Amino acid sequence: MGSIPAYTVAGRLGRAALTVQCRKVMRREKSSLLMTFDGSRFRGRLLGWFDKHKRDLPWRRDRDPYRVWVSEVMLQQTRVAAVLDHYKRFLRRFPNIEKLARAREASVLAAWSGLGYYRRARMLHAAAKRVVKDSGRFPATAAQLRELPGIGRYTAAAIASIAFDEPVAVVDGNVERVLQRLLGKRIGGEWLWRAAQEVLDPGRPGDFNQAMMELGATVCLPRQPKCAECPVSRMCATRGELSARAPGIRQTKREINYALDRRNGSIFLVKRPATASLMPGMWELPEISGARGQAQPSLSLRHSITVTDYQVGVLEGAAAEETTGRWIAKSRLSTLPLTGLARKILRATKVI
Ligand code: SF4
Repeated sequence: MGSIPAYTVAGRLGRAALTVQCRKVMRREKSSLLMTFDGSRFRGRLLGWFDKHKRDLPWRRDRDPYRVWVSEVMLQQTRVAAVLDHYKRFLRRFPNIEKLARAREASVLAAWSGLGYYRRARMLHAAAKRVVKDSGRFPATAAQLRELPGIGRYTAAAIASIAFDEPVAVVDGNVERVLQRLLGKRIGGEWLWRAAQEVLDPGRPGDFNQAMMELGATVCLPRQPKCAECPVSRMCATRGELSARAPGIRQTKREINYALDRRNGSIFLVKRPATASLMPGMWELPEISGARGQAQPSLSLRHSITVTDYQVGVLEGAAAEETTGRWIAKSRLSTLPLTGLARKILRATKVI
């Protein structure tokens, strides 16, 4: 939702100013994170190292989405060494998604036995059934993958980038540690995803994502990182563990107001542009500004997005006339990709 700060300004300046303001804000945000960072040199060095030093892991031998998916789910909260045998056994028992979908849940749980966190196995099974029932074709984008049971943002990005070359970054504990040390800053939340996306190699996204995680798992260790062996040490701001006093990103404060327009069991919502840097294509309430934005809100709440803390006001009533949006039936809201803030507002107002 990187363009949100611009919304506030653009609402007052008009639509033409929105694009200009968005670009300015994006430039400011990017420069604050990666100002002195040579992304292309970083990608070259990291991928060169990965090509030479990557561990020979069974799920790296092909890019079959089913196999990538199984490995990614098994690796959640579990060490590689603990996954290796289970992965091979599971694939012998269920070599493809159709076999997994047809299996009884008891058989799936039995094959998972020893890995723990059995909810993962149940979700895997449920997702396999859904894919086979719907079309038999494995979803090929991160957005589609996230519709499946048990597939969150990380897993969707991992499968989409590794199996389908979609240029979408992953963030896990390893990536977080590597990025924070490289940049010398304690960044988190949406900023972390944004930084990961900015350094991603769009030509080899799957290898790049795996290389970042591999660097974190084998070189940039939580304690005593092996900086002498690190392919990107010259570009690293920290070259060691990040000090507890390392700067975070400074939060800024802004006010923003939204219109909550409800009629005949529907709510008026707008869709974020497909080109938005954050949450593209997601739905939110229409922003209001100008004199109307100064009116007393019927609901006030706080919300933080990346480095901005918003004081949010919600006013019951229509959005500005020129707003392009759609009336969405309340019954459909649960199936719509809403922004976190929109969901928060709709919950607080008991719409959902
Ligand atoms: S130089 Fe050290 S701290 Fe920096 S990324 Fe490499 S291993 Fe991590």
